[in-house]
Amino acid sequence: MDYQAVLEEVAAHARPYVRQGRVADYIPALERVSADRFGIAVADINGDVYGVGDWETPFSVQSISKTFSLALVMAQSHGGHDSIWRRVGREPSGTPFNSLVQLEAENGIPRNPFINAGALVVTDRLQTLTGDASTSMLHFLREESGNEDLAFDQAVADSEAEHGDRNAALAHFMASFGNLENPVPSVIEHYFWQCSIEMSCRDLAVAGGFLARHGLRADGSRLLEAREAKRINAVMLTCGTYDAAGEFAYRVGLPAKSGVGGGIIAVIPGRCTLCVWSPGLDARGNSVAGAAALDHFTTLTGWSVF
Ligand code: GLN
Repeated sequence: MDYQAVLEEVAAHARPYVRQGRVADYIPALERVSADRFGIAVADINGDVYGVGDWETPFSVQSISKTFSLALVMAQSHGGHDSIWRRVGREPSGTPFNSLVQLEAENGIPRNPFINAGALVVTDRLQTLTGDASTSMLHFLREESGNEDLAFDQAVADSEAEHGDRNAALAHFMASFGNLENPVPSVIEHYFWQCSIEMSCRDLAVAGGFLARHGLRADGSRLLEAREAKRINAVMLTCGTYDAAGEFAYRVGLPAKSGVGGGIIAVIPGRCTLCVWSPGLDARGNSVAGAAALDHFTTLTGWSVF
């Protein structure tokens, strides 16, 4: 497979979609990002990386971090009696990523780990397991990506906190059902720091390699059992793009996780991990050009999980 040629063609196909949609404007630090940006990278399981466009430009990972918090929690609990799955479900929500409505009817148990409520529970667990749910994630991402310069964006984290009433409400509501182990202010603070991490398409494609390598880390050591990596991929497919997960699976046919920074990572198990970035979002919070690019990638290559 000539990855470089495929990516060039994918980028050309996605070009008309760049600037479509709306750049996230719920915090000023994201609103300032130019809608013109587009990058895509592929990291294959042997460690080779290819990219086109703005593939080396860092952006705010936002909800893509939810994939890594889940992986880190699963890596430390290995489905034991304290399994995270007693505290969070794995069904698509069909509601927006920051919705409160299901939580009351479902006794403070979020539908899945990739909506905000679910990620807050996972972050809470990671906080208990590591003592620092955001720094432990940053260190993991630095090691996996091989990029020691990865960092939090203080301006994004601060402005997430300043505009964080809805996430605080989700956390307090779950706490009222006894579904948080740590104080709400600490859980939401670590969640905001996780969202604020700046990474490029290259960094994310490389750091997500363990999902394509059936749980093996970049250095060959095991992060997750193969069945655990399979489960994360399965939940990405069914829940990773929020209430658009059905449409996304229909178009792209890959496990994927998006973020409101405009990034999407996608996994082809046994082959490679992709990351695409373009800040214009559709109404569900997924990158318009990013989805078009992944759609075209699987069409051109014939690679999907189906
Ligand atoms: N920081 C955003 C929030 O918590 C992340 C949401 C997202 O990327 N979908 O609302």
